[in-house]
Amino acid sequence: MYDLVIKNGLVYQDKNFYPLNVCIKGEKIAALLAPDVEVEAEKVLDASGKHILPGFIDPHCHMRDPGLTQKEDFYTGTCAAAHSGITMIMPQPNTKPVPSTLDAYMEQVNAGKEKAVVDFNPIGSPLGTAEDVEQIANAGTMWFKIFEKVATYPYNTTAGTLDTHKIFEAFQNCAANGKYCSVHPFDKYFFDAAVEKVKAEGKEVTLRNVRHLWYSDEEMTGAAYQLSYYAKKAGLNWYAMHCWMPGYIDLVRMLKARGEMKIVSSCEYMPAINASDEIWDIENQRFIYINHDAAPDLDKIWEGIQDGTIDMMGSDHAPCKPEEYNPDDALHTSAGFAMLDYYGHLLVSHVNEGHYSLQRLVEITSENCAKTFGLYPRKGSNIVGTDADFTVVDMNEEWEITKDDNVYTKTQTIPYVGRKMHGKVTQTIVRGRIVMSDGVVDCEPGYGKYITVE
Ligand SMILES: [Zn+2]
Repeated sequence: MYDLVIKNGLVYQDKNFYPLNVCIKGEKIAALLAPDVEVEAEKVLDASGKHILPGFIDPHCHMRDPGLTQKEDFYTGTCAAAHSGITMIMPQPNTKPVPSTLDAYMEQVNAGKEKAVVDFNPIGSPLGTAEDVEQIANAGTMWFKIFEKVATYPYNTTAGTLDTHKIFEAFQNCAANGKYCSVHPFDKYFFDAAVEKVKAEGKEVTLRNVRHLWYSDEEMTGAAYQLSYYAKKAGLNWYAMHCWMPGYIDLVRMLKARGEMKIVSSCEYMPAINASDEIWDIENQRFIYINHDAAPDLDKIWEGIQDGTIDMMGSDHAPCKPEEYNPDDALHTSAGFAMLDYYGHLLVSHVNEGHYSLQRLVEITSENCAKTFGLYPRKGSNIVGTDADFTVVDMNEEWEITKDDNVYTKTQTIPYVGRKMHGKVTQTIVRGRIVMSDGVVDCEPGYGKYITVE
């Protein structure tokens, strides 16, 4: 007698899909049986015509918890994640306090234990002492992240950059603990020059006028070259995050070919791919103009995903309250927007749009991330005996994102209004429990577990 059986679906196994019934006992996959084998179960999910993928893992999202919970918290943020098939998240360290000490890190872990509905592992900040980094590493963080522009949060575009020597020191401390470290590459001189250019043209420093000049290829790639050398010098496992600009993608490809250092890269969905300039604010029934980073070369990104240069995708879910956007003053406005409600669906839709295969989707959303951070096969696989985490998708469903959609982000904002979709996540299953079915999330806060390498 099983607790749950997922019947009639095509199940991902070893780079292929097979007609199998997935039998779940407790939190684990107990058996994978041929469709004609009789099984008894407490509950049956009919997945006819659907694909059963290993649960999506989002290595890059911002839960804003603790400290900035007016934007999002572990409950609303993980409901939004479950809404689009994400079974585990790795929230980023721009919280208040910044998790650069063990106490601050555990505050974030405890907020997750109390409220999350999907599994999680918060990412530490390596900007404390060597001892702090060691303690956070021992507590179980998967890796460390630095935002090169500012050492502290909330994000403030007028604050100075982080001292590069401090970054090098942080790399050494992460390396001493065998952890990956990632940095959002940034160069303040390019940033300031863009502002001066707009002013010199007699224009106001509004988002519309300046934002597309920031995070250019020259700026990000130049910073990435410098960081890659520090990483090599420090003996660091480098997580080349935010890898979406052409020169940066080429750099990662070159470094991987050289094989001189351990490197993994991710392309962040929100700033990089078809970023919309407007989002719909449901509560106030209005559009907010936010504009995006310098337009990336999409063909180059798809190529990087296909040829293995880009190993993972991340949502960069970075929710802000509508009133925190100040599009008239680019230097004092919140940035980023809520992605998680749609992120998984968008990645599925790209398969039908011909950008990558369904097999590659599994690798970039689940398998590679789990392998990189030591969670495989517990996460990132459909192997018997491992966690029963699944993202169930209907590759045939055609639908459209509308401003009347039900979303779970606390901000109640919707990006991509009007976008036509082909393929949909229909169920999210976390350790044997269906937490989302047909767009409805049904799970009490605190079900999500803090996952560490065992
Ligand atoms: Zn981010």
